[in-house]
Amino acid sequence: MQRKDHSLLSPSLGSFKTLTSFHFGQAGVGQKIYIQASLHAEELPGMLAAHHLLRLLEAADTQGAIKGEIIVVPVANPIGLAQRLDHRSMGRFELGTSENFNRNFPDLATAVLPAVRGKLGANPADNTRLIRAAAAQHIAQWQPQTELESQRKILTGLAFDADVVLDLHCDFEAAVHLYTETPCWPVIEPLSHLLQAKAVLLALDSGGLSFDEAMSGPWWRLAKALEAEVPAGAIAQACASVTVELRGEGDVTHDLAKSDAQALFGYLQHLGVVAGTPPALPAAACEATPLAGSQTVNAPVPGVVAFAALPGQHLRVGDLVAEIIDPIQNTVYAARSEVDGVLFARICKRYVTAGEKLGNIAGKTPFRTGNLLGA
Ligand SMILES: [Zn+2]
Repeated sequence: MQRKDHSLLSPSLGSFKTLTSFHFGQAGVGQKIYIQASLHAEELPGMLAAHHLLRLLEAADTQGAIKGEIIVVPVANPIGLAQRLDHRSMGRFELGTSENFNRNFPDLATAVLPAVRGKLGANPADNTRLIRAAAAQHIAQWQPQTELESQRKILTGLAFDADVVLDLHCDFEAAVHLYTETPCWPVIEPLSHLLQAKAVLLALDSGGLSFDEAMSGPWWRLAKALEAEVPAGAIAQACASVTVELRGEGDVTHDLAKSDAQALFGYLQHLGVVAGTPPALPAAACEATPLAGSQTVNAPVPGVVAFAALPGQHLRVGDLVAEIIDPIQNTVYAARSEVDGVLFARICKRYVTAGEKLGNIAGKTPFRTGNLLGA
């Protein structure tokens, strides 16, 4: 194992931050897998799971069982991790710009298209190499102007040429669920079995250039942009990327993190990047559903929230999700499910103002359009 410390651009006199990556195996040999945790810095289940995964990988490394390259970044957002306001963690948005740490990663398809146009042939492996080389060149000439951009550049530079990218997050209160782009699903599906995900949300460009889509998106985007110029199938989906939501912010325990690390390790064995017999795949705990079919349950009125439904609970149309109580007017608003599906996440606060989100239900039928991710 090799540890690398990457310096972020200094935003202010006397202030320096570092992002650390742990490298196993050998670059350029076999598959490359990239795993990061806590890009939203207050989402800590993945950080603890990464801690346990690092121990498993160290043991495998000692036995010579790493058959490709594996990079783990257990603390993907040192900027957000240090932000506090009114005694609370502020790890989702950069305080100076209000930018979400998991948005605005580079659009590598647009960046490399002029460089690869006219140079791609019929061989997908050759094309993958050429596209990755062009992306590497683009990233190398990227001159970040801010600390936040420099963090995005470091993470992009570590992950852009990986075959599989796992971005470990969590929701407020939630069951395990995954977000992935539809072309990635065949590669990601065994992970959903091993983690016993209760919802899998599929989309193609959900908007905002989140990290996972910035890694998987270039491949299907280039295939689409060049469909009239290269033979069908000549541009492979060379990166499968997924946002893994490891339950809720409070679900940070050794038991959960060890079992998640074991599932991730089993997935690496399944991919063949760690030697050894992979664990048998348990039956899936859910079907994949379109992100465009998930209902965001909103509160049209302000009040104190009393939830009736638990994370992971299957709801039918009309089932009560929560009551919102106004003790001044003595009114009770019933927020109900408008789709059949699993309540995969809900908020953790218990007072809402009008228009705030209460939770999300994974319905099967697409009905939403436009930007599918919240703030
Ligand atoms: Zn997150």
